[in-house]
Amino acid sequence: SKLRVGLLFGGRSGEHEVSIVSAGAIAKALTTGENSQKYEVCPFYIQKNGVWQGEEIARKVLESGSAEENTPNTVNLWQFPQKSPQIDLWFPILHGPNGEDGTIQGLLTLMQVPFVGSGVLGSAMGMDKIAMKTAFAQAGLPQVQYQTVTRAQIWSNPCVFPKLCDQIETTLGYPCFVKPANLGSSVGIAKVRSRQELETALDNAATYDRRIIVEAGVVAREVECAVLGNDHPQASVVGEISFNSDFYDYETKYTQGKADLLIPAPLSQTVVEQIQEMSLKAFAAVDAAGLARVDFFYVESTGEILINEINTLPGFTSTSMYPQLWANTGISFPQLVDQLIQLAIERQPTSD
Ligand code: ATP
Ligand code: MG
Ligand code: MG
Ligand code: MG
Repeated sequence: SKLRVGLLFGGRSGEHEVSIVSAGAIAKALTTGENSQKYEVCPFYIQKNGVWQGEEIARKVLESGSAEENTPNTVNLWQFPQKSPQIDLWFPILHGPNGEDGTIQGLLTLMQVPFVGSGVLGSAMGMDKIAMKTAFAQAGLPQVQYQTVTRAQIWSNPCVFPKLCDQIETTLGYPCFVKPANLGSSVGIAKVRSRQELETALDNAATYDRRIIVEAGVVAREVECAVLGNDHPQASVVGEISFNSDFYDYETKYTQGKADLLIPAPLSQTVVEQIQEMSLKAFAAVDAAGLARVDFFYVESTGEILINEINTLPGFTSTSMYPQLWANTGISFPQLVDQLIQLAIERQPTSD
C-alpha cells in the first residue's frame, strides 16, 4: 500500500506564502510519475493565525496557491494528530519561525512519526543566527565579524543604548547589518550606514526578536550550496545569486525578475570544492538532517569564503535554489522529494 505523507505547510510566519508555493510543487512531485505509485499526499494547512486545516481546505489552498484566512478554528493544534487520519510520515515545508525552528519538529517527535528534515536541535540551531554562528565558530568556519545584542539592551535602559551604539561603531563600523536572530527571507534585516540608521534598525529589529545580531558588512558575491543526506551527506554544485538591489532583501527575493540564479556559479574548481567542504561542515555543526541550503559570501578580491548561514527548510518552489542545485547535480525534483522521504525513514530509530 502507499505511504501516507502528511504535507505540512503555511504556518505562523512571514514566509507563509512561499511555503504554500513550495508545498504545491512538492505535492505535484509526489502525485506524478513513479512517486504516485508510492505515495499518497495528505495536506495540512496551518493558517497564519496558527489554526490547522485538514483535507478540504488544505487541498483548496494547495491548488489555488494562495493563503486562506479567518477560517474558524475547528480543531485545536494538540488534538489534531489524534483526529487526523493515519499519517506514515510528515513532510513539513514551513519556512521561518514556528516551523523551520524546531517547534513543529518537537510536535512530530512527540508523535513518534518520522519526518523530513532536521530534528529539534538542528532546526533550532539553524534558525537562531546567534546559536548558529557559535556552532560555526566552534567548527572553525570563517565568518564576518559580529556582535550580539538583546532587546533589553535596546529598550530597557536609556544609558546603555548610546554606549552600545558607540561600541558597534568602533568594532564593526559601517555599513553593518542588523538582524533579528530568528527569522528568514530578510524580514527585519537592515543595512545601516550611519548612527541614526543604526539606532532605528536596532529598535525595529527588537520588535521582531529578543535576540539581535549585528554583522560587519562585506562586499562579496553570494553563493549557495545544497546538502542532502543524514550521516553521510552530499553537497551539490554551487549556485550564485545576482541582483541589482542594495542587498538580497525581501523584495529582491520575491519579486519576479529582480534576482537571477546562476547554476553552476562561475567559480574555480578549488573554490567550489572549498564551499562544498564548508557546507558539509556547517551541516554537521548544527546537527542538520535530510536537507539544508548553506549560504556564503565569496570575497573575490581576497579569495575569502565566509559562511553566512544555513537554512534547514529552504525555499522549495520549482524555481527555488535548493531543488535547482540538485537538478544541476543530476537529481530531478521528483527524485529529490523521494530521497528526502527515504532519508526521513532511515533516520527514524528502529528501537528505543
Ligand atoms: P534567508 O531568506 O536566506 O533565510 P535571512 O533572512 O536568514 O535569509 P541573511 O541571509 O542573513 O537573512 O541575510 C539576507 C541578505 O542580506 C543576504 O543574502 C545578503 O544580501 C545581505 N547580508 C546579510 N548579512 C550581510 C553581511 N554581513 N554583509 C553583506 N551583506 C549581508
Ligand atoms: Mg536564513
Ligand atoms: Mg530562511
Ligand atoms: Mg540567507
